[in-house]
Amino acid sequence: YDDRDGFIWWNGEMRPWRDANLHVLSHGLHYASAVFEGERCYDGRIFKLREHTDRLLNSARILGFQVPYSADEIDAACDATIKANGLTDAYVRPIAWRGSGEMGVAAQQAGVNVAIAVWEWGAYFGVEQRMKGINLAWAKWRRPDPATAPTASKAAGLYMIGTLSKHAAMDEGADDAMMLDYKGDVAEATGANAFFVFDGELHTPTPTCFLDGITRRTVMGLAKKRQMKVVERVIKPEELPRATEAFVAGTAAEVTPIRRIGDQDFTPGQITETLMRDYEAATRAK
Ligand code: PMP
Repeated sequence: YDDRDGFIWWNGEMRPWRDANLHVLSHGLHYASAVFEGERCYDGRIFKLREHTDRLLNSARILGFQVPYSADEIDAACDATIKANGLTDAYVRPIAWRGSGEMGVAAQQAGVNVAIAVWEWGAYFGVEQRMKGINLAWAKWRRPDPATAPTASKAAGLYMIGTLSKHAAMDEGADDAMMLDYKGDVAEATGANAFFVFDGELHTPTPTCFLDGITRRTVMGLAKKRQMKVVERVIKPEELPRATEAFVAGTAAEVTPIRRIGDQDFTPGQITETLMRDYEAATRAK
């Protein structure tokens, strides 16, 4: 992704894409003091921009550092980066990290940097694949206890087990991994939250040790508008054979039906289809 034309917002200025480089002694690289966002721009408008910006600032606060820009400044910078690159439909990746001003575990004086990159990006799993549903393998890694890791932060370090799990799933021929939490309950996919239909109701795991996704909250709102009953609760893996539909929801994945988790098959159905359509309409609403 480094050798392209375009512009990346870098600490308040637009830099040519190829010149957006950081020093190898950056604290964020060595000690994972980095937080980021993933946003989508539809028809020139970034969906739920302020919610993402607020989460970025809060993710940094949880890791003990302050992003040196206000929410208004970050929002404006995201929009400016979209414009500078001449895009209307794109993925937006703001990132904040501790810099190279100090080396060691402690790094109060390392400095904090912010960059925003945007690029054209279609549906996460491809449209055709989305319609038939995705195949998930159970991950051997589990989402950690909130007493073990800062799980409410969208922190780069928490993606280490995501990458391991997704690579293992892909090696088995699956599209992604479904992760349990540290207690053995159903948690989420590596980059999206999970939903299940039980007796015509929409059920989703309570986000006690993983992100309460912005898409997750949007989908719950859309379901309630359709008079569906929405239930947040602990979901045990052994309950899944009773679920009649399953899907994932996330900024990149949007609403994507699940065809299989491990050796459990699901048939993408009416409720998933309705929410896919409602989510699409919401993202494109002016
Ligand atoms: N869980 C993880 C691990 C994620 O990376 C994401 C994507 N940010 C989500 C859930 C869904 O969050 P959102 O809907 O806010 O994109």
